[in-house]
Amino acid sequence: MKKLKCGFCGTIDSKDNPVIAGDSACICKSCVNAAYDIMEEDYNISDENDTGKKAEKEDKKIVLKTPKELKVILDDYVIGQDRAKKVLCVAVYNHYKRIFKYKPSDDDIEINKSNVLLIGPTGSGKTLLVQTIAKYLDVPLAIADATSLTEAGYVGDDVENVITRLVQAASGDINKAQRGIIFIDEIDKIARMSENRSITRDVSGEGVQQAMLKIIEGASVNVPPNGGRKHPGQEALQVDTSNILFICGGAFDGIEEIIQKKLGSNVLGFNQEKRSKADMKNVLHDVEAHDLIKYGLIPELIGRLHMITTLNEISEDDMIHILSQPKNALTKQYIKLFEIDNVLLKFNKTALKEIAKKAIKRKTGARGLRSILEDIMLDIMFDLPNYKDKTITITKEIVLKEDKVKIA
Ligand code: ADP
Repeated sequence: MKKLKCGFCGTIDSKDNPVIAGDSACICKSCVNAAYDIMEEDYNISDENDTGKKAEKEDKKIVLKTPKELKVILDDYVIGQDRAKKVLCVAVYNHYKRIFKYKPSDDDIEINKSNVLLIGPTGSGKTLLVQTIAKYLDVPLAIADATSLTEAGYVGDDVENVITRLVQAASGDINKAQRGIIFIDEIDKIARMSENRSITRDVSGEGVQQAMLKIIEGASVNVPPNGGRKHPGQEALQVDTSNILFICGGAFDGIEEIIQKKLGSNVLGFNQEKRSKADMKNVLHDVEAHDLIKYGLIPELIGRLHMITTLNEISEDDMIHILSQPKNALTKQYIKLFEIDNVLLKFNKTALKEIAKKAIKRKTGARGLRSILEDIMLDIMFDLPNYKDKTITITKEIVLKEDKVKIA
């Protein structure tokens, strides 16, 4: 019997590419698919109701940024913290690769979600890293403080409310929210009490951890459409959290001692001399899941935060870089503000060093830089419109309030 031949491309009927016959023409499977794509693109013939298929096609078109490309973006805004940047970039890349490029039906391997735990002192850039990456991926981000969260039913912010905030950040687009990022800071403050820890922490900590675990693991959460507390009879939105990337952060004050104890007992004959402060800081890089459990996080939660990384305390040199290098560095912002009034603003290197020193003394990391600068700049900005076409140089003496501003 003569085999059918496609009237478009000439292919002969085969198992891989079957040809079907109409009244007066034949067409093969590849040509049908190609014709469908052309029709869909040029004449928008796709089935509007088939949102699932449409979304799947859209997903395939998404070009993911590689970890290296992501890091270049982070480098523009965040000083140092190289290791944390790498971990975050890889986690984010894997996360979105898993969502957009992997279909579980390909084979039987199911790729698990890799949530991240960032351990670092306050003001070291944890939030900034997450904010920067979310902004450049164009995914919604919700930031919550673990200390403000409560178990459902208690007075405070339900853990589930964080999901509501994510939906709000996605302008109500549930699909977008389901692929967003949730950053829960100060997770160390909800550690449960153990024999090693002081008794000052919130007793409900473990309950909040359990509630967090539920949404991190992946659950279908009913959230009120406008945020706030749930009301009976109020129409609820259903959000599936299984593709939301969770990033947790915390300072974990005192965890160095737990790690040091572990390291000490692992080395036979180790001399338990008092380590220097710098040694103690380096010890943090050896943090393992076990230490976090000892600190008071529940094992199930730690088990969900696969990627753990540490951020360094901001040094004086880093402070100086933070003041002047990032794309939207504070000094650059002031220079721009002054430019609008036709005033040229300059910062002496010694002035930056002095500001950095002041920030270190405040012990709030780089967070302190803004208020220090604001204090220095207030009087100058008050009179700024009078300094049109002039140059103002911020010197060490001005920072130390030992001298008045000189206008040139
Ligand atoms: P954390 O979340 O670790 O407490 P943040 O990320 O909120 O700290 O940092 C507070 C502010 O300090 C940021 O908005 C940013 O201006 C500045 N900052 C902190 N760390 C860095 C860094 N490594 N590079 C640039 N800016 C930083």
